[in-house]
Amino acid sequence: MASRFNAIWLEKSETGATLAAVRELGDDDLQQHTDGNVVVRVEYSTLNYKDGLAITGKSPVVRKWPMVPGIDLAGVVESSEDPRFKRGDAVLLNGWGTGETSWGGLAGRARVKAEHLTARPAALDSRAAMAIGTAGYTAMLCAMALERHGVKPDDGEVLVTGANGGVGSFAIAILAARGYRVVASTGRPEEAARLKALGASGIVERASLSEPGKPLQKERWAGAVDSVGSHTLVNVCAQMRYGGVVAACGLAQGMDMPGSVAPFILRGVQLAGVDSVFARPELRTSAWQRLAAELGASTIASIGAETIGLAQSIETAAALLDGKVKGRVVVDVNA
Ligand code: NDP
Repeated sequence: MASRFNAIWLEKSETGATLAAVRELGDDDLQQHTDGNVVVRVEYSTLNYKDGLAITGKSPVVRKWPMVPGIDLAGVVESSEDPRFKRGDAVLLNGWGTGETSWGGLAGRARVKAEHLTARPAALDSRAAMAIGTAGYTAMLCAMALERHGVKPDDGEVLVTGANGGVGSFAIAILAARGYRVVASTGRPEEAARLKALGASGIVERASLSEPGKPLQKERWAGAVDSVGSHTLVNVCAQMRYGGVVAACGLAQGMDMPGSVAPFILRGVQLAGVDSVFARPELRTSAWQRLAAELGASTIASIGAETIGLAQSIETAAALLDGKVKGRVVVDVNA
């Protein structure tokens, strides 16, 4: 019998506004609107900033209509036309334009391309995988970039900006667990105890990095994970020790980079760009295996993820963009 499931359904009104609603869909809808070769019974998804933009229509991230949003999903393979996966396999998916150009994870079922799926490590159930989500996976890609470029725990302090955000919180936990001395930059110093519990050994005020500064400043950091961009990224580069490495992944302050090449050409600072959306499958698999091995259940719990039902993701998307949501949001797509 054909299965029915609920999904967040986005369509464009005649005036161009995004309309979001819960809609019951079936396999025939997946056949008509998607061109994947693996059907996944989705268990959990999560709400990222990009999902908030898609659901509210505040920024044109949706490129195809109608759309089922959700850039992340975790579940179990229902059926597969690809030899790499079989019914019952535990899987997850992050990015690849899912929820933007192809239907995503805020639905009970998804039909996706086999090459976009990652085998979900046995240690992570679907909920834990989505509590980590793209935020944790990106933080791991950043930690791996620092390692690949040669930053070692003994080299000195490592800075994490946007520390209370999803990427920042996971980056602190991952790097501290590997023995790095992590300093957290935050605009919410009242959350210092939480950041220290995650593994930060010190805190710097966000404001000390967010204004225009000198091209070369006092050398402090051996490595940095920056999810903020703009002046913050420029100041971080200016404060790197000789040969230090910055993994840049975000733009919470801005997409601009108003700075000087001085740190690169005079101190040999390396800037490593990190993209999670189209990262190579081998890199993803290795990042997820390390997340499963290195993040215990208690760390995932202490970063904190509230679980909501599918319908709540519409109102929560707006709250997320308004900065009213604290911590990560996991969506039980079947509730
Ligand atoms: P969150 O919204 O959870 O966190 C962002 C954090 O940045 C905030 O918690 C805050 O930290 C800090 N922040 C917010 N606004 C400003 C500001 N104006 N100036 C300085 N700091 C600010 O986002 P995520 O952690 O999920 O993502 C972080 C960034 O990384 C985003 O820009 C996101 O788009 C990007 N990203 C990129 C990916 C990639 O593939 N490259 C993948 C995932 C995310 P605090 O309160 O501690 O100061």
